[in-house]
Amino acid sequence: DLESWLERLVVNTAYLKAQQGGRNEPNMQREFLTLPKPKKSTAPRGAGEKTYEWLCERQPIGKKLFLQFLLTSDPQRAAAAAFLQELHDWSFAEDATREKVRQRILAKFCHPQSQTFLSYLTEDSNVCRTLSDKSLDEETVQKITDATKDFLKGKPFLEYLKSPYFYRFLQWKECERQKITDKYFYEFRTLGRGGFGEVCVVQVKYTGHMYACKKLDKRRLKKKSGERLALQEKQILEKVNSPFIVNLAYAYESRTHLCLVMDLMSGGDLKFHIYELGERGIRMERVVYYVAQIISGILHLHSMDIVYRDMKPENVLLDGKGQCRVSDLGLAVELPNGKMICQRAGTTGYMAPEVLKQEYYRTSVDWWALGCSIYEMVAARLPFKDFREKVQNTEVTRRTLEDDCKFEDKRFDAPTKELILQFLKKKVAHRLGCRKGDDPRNHTFFKNINFHRLEAGLVEPPWVPKPNVVYAKHIDDYRDNSDVKDVELDAKDEKFFKDFSTGAVPIRWQREVIDSGLFDELNETQMNGNSKQKTTC
Ligand code: ADP
Ligand code: MG
Ligand code: MG
Repeated sequence: DLESWLERLVVNTAYLKAQQGGRNEPNMQREFLTLPKPKKSTAPRGAGEKTYEWLCERQPIGKKLFLQFLLTSDPQRAAAAAFLQELHDWSFAEDATREKVRQRILAKFCHPQSQTFLSYLTEDSNVCRTLSDKSLDEETVQKITDATKDFLKGKPFLEYLKSPYFYRFLQWKECERQKITDKYFYEFRTLGRGGFGEVCVVQVKYTGHMYACKKLDKRRLKKKSGERLALQEKQILEKVNSPFIVNLAYAYESRTHLCLVMDLMSGGDLKFHIYELGERGIRMERVVYYVAQIISGILHLHSMDIVYRDMKPENVLLDGKGQCRVSDLGLAVELPNGKMICQRAGTTGYMAPEVLKQEYYRTSVDWWALGCSIYEMVAARLPFKDFREKVQNTEVTRRTLEDDCKFEDKRFDAPTKELILQFLKKKVAHRLGCRKGDDPRNHTFFKNINFHRLEAGLVEPPWVPKPNVVYAKHIDDYRDNSDVKDVELDAKDEKFFKDFSTGAVPIRWQREVIDSGLFDELNETQMNGNSKQKTTC
């Protein structure tokens, strides 16, 4: 009816407008903050290797401030900082310009005549010898990088810790630790619904950054004993750091909900793209791109001994630029000490033979499910289950264990068939991704993908979502809450909720602050002792 149509129009418009405007939206009530004084307890204890890496390399704001410090320090340090930056850019250069950039770096930093020669390199005769060959292969690059790091983490690092740049870092850290509540965000429309509550769009008031917020109803969690699983999902989400996995930015609690604030994926899920938009299936160029990103995400999980266990197109979400990430880590588990597990988990049609036979397994199940998912992206049906086929789970199990995978659809080309067959090997020992030393990224299916550039976000997506379309179905607000009214929350629950609510995830939060421009803005005004704004942080 007209009223609900109007309501949809209003919520969609508000969301799209906020997304397009971001921090520059003139109507947005901008919140200002002033950096607080750091507390004593936040200073680092020792200055070892770990401390250096954590403070000056891993944390984006720490890295930025350390570089700023080096650039204003003596020329040798500035050269070391510039060298690291140029080496980093070089590693992502396209083949056509690689050689030219390489020559420039060598001339600028590695020749004793140059003004920006890295003189600490001469102290290491090994590095010098390789340099005289004028080569800059991977091994040499590693050696020079190590020598540079050794140089920087010595005296320059110790002096940095006493500098105003480091004081500034501690101020940002203090700000990062603030308590997060509902008031930190503006809230927009609902995007989807999960088992314990809904997922809606939120926007950070300080930075204008948009996120998705997965809200878990506290009473519903308790009623269905979902607390342990929720905590497990949150802990895995906060551990991972990959451009191909939905990242966690904040975990906090409201009066009624536990909230997980994650990357906003506004382009919809791949199931929606396979079945709901025009002709069924996804065209091959897009399939290759998405599968390459999914593989990178899965490999990241596996490198941490985490099995995803819920690989399927529905769980792969597209962002506003058309890049994808895997999401919903609710079934993901960490293998205890890398040991095998035996637990039935997954979705019908995507479960591997070893799961169906209740055998012990590790990461092999994800490669099987990926094979099924690639098949589905191309043909809009599963290898062992047709689209909308009404079939018993036991029959799907039988087919999975006994039948061969058939390719009747003409859209399958030779490399795609070959790749799927490699993933759908019924024996784990024969399956791609599970055999010793093999890497799915080397398959000819990916001959046009440069994975290194893909990881850095430098490969253009083959398809970009339209900015004025909401790729989500409308969800009616009505929800029956009567079944959880009788649940009482006690002190033990409250303690659990408090432990769950750890606030901002450092690396995510720092990226947000940098990318929004807030970092540069505040650093400029406040480094010059010009801080008239009110303290809100
Ligand atoms: P559950 O584990 O309860 O199934 P999900 O994590 O799958 O919950 O989220 C439920 C729905 O919310 C998803 O199917 C999707 O439509 C939407 N959703 C989840 N995460 C995001 C996100 N980061 N960005 C956009 N939409 C999301
Ligand atoms: Mg889900
Ligand atoms: Mg889930």
